[in-house]
Amino acid sequence: MQGKKINIAVDGYSSCGKSTIAKGLARELGYTYIDSGAMYRAVALFAIRNGWISESEMDEEQLRQHVADIHITFKTNHQGEQETYLNGENVEQQIRTLEAANGASRVSTLGFVRKELVNQQQLMGKQKGVVMDGRDIGTVVFPDAELKLFLTASPDVRALRRFDEMKANGENPSFGDVLANVKERDLRDTTREESPLRKADDALELDNSDIGIEEQLRWALEMFNKITTEDEQN
Ligand code: C5P
Repeated sequence: MQGKKINIAVDGYSSCGKSTIAKGLARELGYTYIDSGAMYRAVALFAIRNGWISESEMDEEQLRQHVADIHITFKTNHQGEQETYLNGENVEQQIRTLEAANGASRVSTLGFVRKELVNQQQLMGKQKGVVMDGRDIGTVVFPDAELKLFLTASPDVRALRRFDEMKANGENPSFGDVLANVKERDLRDTTREESPLRKADDALELDNSDIGIEEQLRWALEMFNKITTEDEQN
């Protein structure tokens, strides 16, 4: 890719295909993809394993005391896919369960967790050439990102995508549970006090309920080309 590297923020609701577009962009541009949600999931897994999160309660104080012991890294496997490591252990599978997703949605409401992870994410983006997806990338992590995308899709479409994905992974969820989970996470993401999910003023929005992956990626690359060409002309 010609020209200087930029950072790209991809935000949106849960299960609306952010990672597919972010990974596709990173692949096409030779950029590094970073899944910020995986970091919140890894924190949740750490807390679940220590018994600090149960169905109805969360031991915030324990988590606060130990948040500095949580080291999250990413490594690319032989298939070229990125995997998440928690304190040196590959936890890519364990963080993808519904339990970890719910835990992530809860720990992500805590200011001290967000502060720690946002710091790490900003460091990862220092050299530019990063595509990061999440909820607060365009608003908090990289407010100066040159390209910001905001994806949306209806709750039913998102729940169906997630349902199919889980079945493909050998899980057997009920569609009702998955839909309820999507709605619950939407509510928590948009109403929490700390960095609620919202579209950055300068983000480009795409409702992908009825749009395939190829077309979305084409659109995203077009936006990238537009922005980087404008930059070069200025
Ligand atoms: O994107 P993913 O569904 O893996 O994220 C898991 C949870 O982590 C989300 O439901 C959201 O509550 C939280 N999250 C966040 N900020 C981010 C990324 C994820 O609050 N940047």
